[in-house]
Amino acid sequence: MDTKPTQAAGAPRESLEGDEADRDVIAICIVAAAIILFVGIGATVGPQVLDSLLGRGRAPDAALVDAFLLNIALIIFGWSRYRELSEEVSRRRQAEQQARLLAETDPMTGFLNRRSLDGSVERAIERAREDNQCVAMLMLDLDNFKQVNDTNGHQTGDELLRESARRIAEVAPPGAILARIGGDEFALAFPFSSDRLDLVERIASRLVDRIAQTTQCGPTLIDVTASVGIARSDLAKMGGKLKNDTQGLLEMADIAMYHAKRAGRNRYCWFEGSMADEIRFRFAMESGIRAGVPRGEFVPYYEQQIDLQTGELTGFEMLARWNSPEFGIVSPEIFIPIAEEIGTIADLSESVIAQALDDAREWDPSLTLAVNVSPVQLRDPWFAQKLLRLMTAKNFPPDRLEIEITESCLLENVAQVRALISSLKNQGITVSLDDFGTGYSSLAQLRSLPFDRIKIDRSFVSNVTESEDSAAIVHAIAMLGQGLRLPITAEGIENSEVLEHLRAYGPLKGQGFFYGRPCPAADISEMLRARGRVTGGDAAIEPRSAVAAEAKADEPALRHAAQ
Ligand code: C2E
Ligand code: MG
Ligand code: MG
Repeated sequence: MDTKPTQAAGAPRESLEGDEADRDVIAICIVAAAIILFVGIGATVGPQVLDSLLGRGRAPDAALVDAFLLNIALIIFGWSRYRELSEEVSRRRQAEQQARLLAETDPMTGFLNRRSLDGSVERAIERAREDNQCVAMLMLDLDNFKQVNDTNGHQTGDELLRESARRIAEVAPPGAILARIGGDEFALAFPFSSDRLDLVERIASRLVDRIAQTTQCGPTLIDVTASVGIARSDLAKMGGKLKNDTQGLLEMADIAMYHAKRAGRNRYCWFEGSMADEIRFRFAMESGIRAGVPRGEFVPYYEQQIDLQTGELTGFEMLARWNSPEFGIVSPEIFIPIAEEIGTIADLSESVIAQALDDAREWDPSLTLAVNVSPVQLRDPWFAQKLLRLMTAKNFPPDRLEIEITESCLLENVAQVRALISSLKNQGITVSLDDFGTGYSSLAQLRSLPFDRIKIDRSFVSNVTESEDSAAIVHAIAMLGQGLRLPITAEGIENSEVLEHLRAYGPLKGQGFFYGRPCPAADISEMLRARGRVTGGDAAIEPRSAVAAEAKADEPALRHAAQ
């Protein structure tokens, strides 16, 4: 299952080869000088030696003979040095080539990696421009790769990636730049004449067809499809802010690829000018988020968490909102994924958690504070320490804090998540598994990870009285919780029927719009003060709080534009 290595790496080799050439020239010069000297001295000493041997003359001058012999030794020495040097240079050249290959290629497929793609594509764009052509960038994403990985294991997943790479290489035109730029994301770039879109489409269509063919991975037959987005270098200016470079091309191809996915997957889609609006929106979001974190535009909202049996308020889940001067109140479902991608999630999260710790310190100490953390933060080995430092700085007791980890995090690195949960728990922090039922965690994982609580995803809870499937899932999760002795929180309780349905399962916690929408800190303290539940107070809470602050976060236009 070898893949044809890409031909297009073309990294600069000039400097290394220049050095080697210099050293070769010096060694050759030494040998050449020795040979010239040998000829010169030999021409004088040779006939004298011959005459002396034939008894026709005097023996040659001893000094000259010594010089002659020394010269021979010099040639032998010089030659052997030259050979050693050549061998060493060739060994070094091989090692350097190997190192360069490792640095530039993806070991799994033999394709270029993301880092080395830029230079290659930029050179290809340059060459294409000289030839009056442009470059097509195809981005290919396997549609259901995650499921294959989860169901059949990583080995099968790896094999599928190698086979996909082999098929891509097979379909690619000669000299095309082939790269693997993410887990199951590939890029393919090649020059074409701007009036021959049909050629590019033929390749894209063959790629889609070829990937859709069943793959035999060991004993298993795997069916996956691919979505392909296509961008062309001569349209790069269309996005206005888009740069006519590899990143610009990749961004356009990426957007086109998502359009292909939304249109039903297993197809290709060209990037079009109208899609550039999305890019502009995305740029505005990115720069808005970057600037908004230090300006304190990200603020905590709070959603009540209730003991369903007693109706008592037990605490709040903090849900971040972006109070953007440009976009208004923005939902975390829009800005969290972008903040994760542009690397600002840790600062953003720290800023809202710090505000929440300040807010929660004013509440009755029996009230807990739950905060969500992103998978990106979990990858930070210092996350637990950072959190602890923040809590110490804010003088907040760890046993009032609950960390919510979404089920999808478990896909990434169970060992790391396990270590993190343990270290948080050692500090007295509670850890719950959020959105349970939407990811792919196995029972074995659930048992092996020391969670304190499971939260049933709102998508099952909110329609538990209408959908038999949802009711069955909620029932199964409630039983699982009982079996594993894990307390359960049901999110998404929207009406009293759902509440009644859930009460049948005994002591559950719950949250949802039935108890009020998430609202800002000021509203929460007002409510708690009215109920005597600020520091030192105590009171039970009725369903449907008077707090009606409505987060405008669900603005459909924003939601749509960010999809
Ligand atoms: P989540 O942790 O599952 O939070 C619950 C979400 O369900 C919230 O959406 C909440 O407004 C919504 N919700 C609550 N009750 C109901 C209901 O009765 N019906 C319906 N349909 N929805 C309900 P929100 O605030 O938009 O947050 C979405 C997600 O964003 C959260 O899901 C959480 O995963 C993430 N998130 C929020 N804040 C943060 C944060 O500070 N950091 C990170 N990493 N993620 C956050
Ligand atoms: Mg949550
Ligand atoms: Mg949730």
